[in-house]
Amino acid sequence: GFRRAGRLDGIELSEIVQISERVAQLRADGADIVALSTGEPDFPTPTHVIEAAHRAALAGQTRYPATAGTPALRAAIAAEAGVEPANVIVSTGAKQVLAGAFLATLDPGDEVITTAPFWTSYADMVRLAGGVPVVLDCPGAQGFKLTPAQLEAAITSRTRWLLLNTPSNPTGAIYSEAELQALGAVLDRHPHVWVISDEIYQHLAYVPFTPFVQAVPTLADRTLIVNGVSKAYSMTGWRIGWGIGPAPLIKAMVAVQGQITSGACSIAQAAALAALSGPQDLLVERRAEMLARRDLVVAGLNAAGLECASPDGAFYVFPKTPARMPVDHDFCHHLLDTAGVALVPGRAFGMSGHLRLSFAYARQSLEEGLARIARAVAAL
Ligand code: PLP
Repeated sequence: GFRRAGRLDGIELSEIVQISERVAQLRADGADIVALSTGEPDFPTPTHVIEAAHRAALAGQTRYPATAGTPALRAAIAAEAGVEPANVIVSTGAKQVLAGAFLATLDPGDEVITTAPFWTSYADMVRLAGGVPVVLDCPGAQGFKLTPAQLEAAITSRTRWLLLNTPSNPTGAIYSEAELQALGAVLDRHPHVWVISDEIYQHLAYVPFTPFVQAVPTLADRTLIVNGVSKAYSMTGWRIGWGIGPAPLIKAMVAVQGQITSGACSIAQAAALAALSGPQDLLVERRAEMLARRDLVVAGLNAAGLECASPDGAFYVFPKTPARMPVDHDFCHHLLDTAGVALVPGRAFGMSGHLRLSFAYARQSLEEGLARIARAVAAL
């Protein structure tokens, strides 16, 4: 019969995907569901980006791309970051950048320190690559952020990476420049520990955002920045992300990528280049819309009796479960079954007792979802 590899032990389809599939099934059965569970902007990919992809395809950019990324896109990313193209790898989404970094660097038992709540894929990616996720609890009382003392206490001789996410999925937390510098001061004392800073929500910040390398330039020679076009330019389906880091690390990641995908889709890379080099005013417009939605959702949830802090970035809120139904997955099931609203339980992000609601949806859906949540909580 079929036998799964040991490296898959404990690894299943992410709970977010399972919820999306349940929503699709309920809708197919005729149910009226408000899904606030997925992390992708509802805006369309900008027209000039789609046109650039069309032109690239017609112009014959349909062959195997260079493994590390097309020279034009690599150069554009490098120029914006003030580095050389040798410091840049383009992959099939930020997700593959992270996976490639772990595959390229982790030996069995190597440790990766990260924070809970975390984006669902982090811990499983580390495990798939043979590493050990070391997850540090960062509750709301500390702004869902890692403290220097926690970091110091968690570092061992096996620690390879500190994995940070700013702005964060699922909490929206953004590390200030001073907070990054305080973490950097700990890492100064531990030169064997490298840093991954996942900054994919950089352009969705409602307070000043400081990139890790700008706050701690002295650690640039052991930092990998992860970014991409998915969230900022509404391009989740194009699957383009990139890593910026020291050339030897990038070279090792390119070696992994060469054996797994041969590089990211050439047409999608032309589209990403158009997104980066075209008009940027849409970033400002879309951020303003997300900010308005954030305020709507935070006010609505608190009014409904779900304690919810206002996030500094990204497009998620991470409220607490209602006191009358404190177990997060119980409440999510109840909400879906009785009110037709899909949220994701906090346990999917390593922190139970919370819910994640994505506000990357039209205001009408948010308003309908909030009204249903308020009725469901009142009826508990
Ligand atoms: N990093 C974080 C924190 C995310 O939330 C996501 C997507 O949900 C990704 C990375 C993956 O982005 P991409 O679509 O570029 O693979």
